[in-house]
Amino acid sequence: AKSQGRNTYGFYTEDLTRFASQRLDLETRLRRGLSNEEFVVFYQPVLSVSDGTLLGAEALVRWQPPGEQMISPADFIPMAEETGLIVQLGEWVLREACRQMRAWDAQGFVLPSVAVNLSAEQVRRQDVGTMLLQVLAESGLAAERLEIELTESSLMQQGEKAAMLLDQLKQHGVRLAIDDFGTGYSSLAYLKRFSIDKLKIDRSFIKDLADDRNDLAIASAIVAMANALDIAVQAEGVENDAQLALLKMIGCGSWQGYSCSPPVPPVDFEQRFLLAGFC
Ligand code: C2E
Ligand code: CA
Ligand code: CA
Ligand code: CA
Repeated sequence: AKSQGRNTYGFYTEDLTRFASQRLDLETRLRRGLSNEEFVVFYQPVLSVSDGTLLGAEALVRWQPPGEQMISPADFIPMAEETGLIVQLGEWVLREACRQMRAWDAQGFVLPSVAVNLSAEQVRRQDVGTMLLQVLAESGLAAERLEIELTESSLMQQGEKAAMLLDQLKQHGVRLAIDDFGTGYSSLAYLKRFSIDKLKIDRSFIKDLADDRNDLAIASAIVAMANALDIAVQAEGVENDAQLALLKMIGCGSWQGYSCSPPVPPVDFEQRFLLAGFC
């Protein structure tokens, strides 16, 4: 019994050690990935609901370690946030998206706008306002062409800091979108307090839009509220024509989703969407 106990204990610590070293390993690899430029930005088209024209793109990061499979942000953003590496990573994504927009400008493809995700941890750990304005100035991208996506939870968690950031961004013309709208813990009071330019209806309400009356009621209430408040509204995760038809019916302004395309590398985005100007 004694030896079995020791074995169990031994197995347990080994497991914990493996777990801890896997985490350490991921952190080290993330750090190295940043300095080795192993990250890439993919772009997902944003389209007008009424006529299908290309309005912009959302920039979404991926990790491509050499010789390995591409890693999804869901698998490394949480660790990047925990370790603070999100500060460097987020700044890199922003810089890269702005650079890409200017490169497309130079090629004669003028995409109206690009949306970049900002994590609550960036807002908490860094003076993001100053960083953003600096990156914009360096890239030469007009502030009006940049949209920043923050979740409701980020806004709520970072309270005053977020409020100051939003004021600063507003003053310079950067637009603000609320990501995953309807899923966070929040009050609607911030819609009054902050000047928000766009609500992005979370994919969870769009998924069963054609089959679930409650989802349709929620989506249509969000659209009505946004329209009344003069805030733009965009649907995420649109995967079929039935959803798109309903979005048109309820007056939603723009959409993104697999029904047009998943996020794709810049070259594909150019060939498939920038050349055509629609989906
Ligand atoms: P998100 O900001 O809500 O981005 C939308 C996610 O939905 C993307 O996943 C996109 O590929 C996926 N998606 C788009 N259309 C459809 C659809 O029709 N059906 C389905 N099932 N999915 C769709 P992705 O690229 O894997 O990103 C996941 C999350 O990782 C993002 O969610 C965002 O929270 C985070 N993320 C990605 N890039 C960045 C970044 O640069 N910075 C920060 N802070 N977070 C990022
Ligand atoms: Ca987003
Ligand atoms: Ca979202
Ligand atoms: Ca999301």
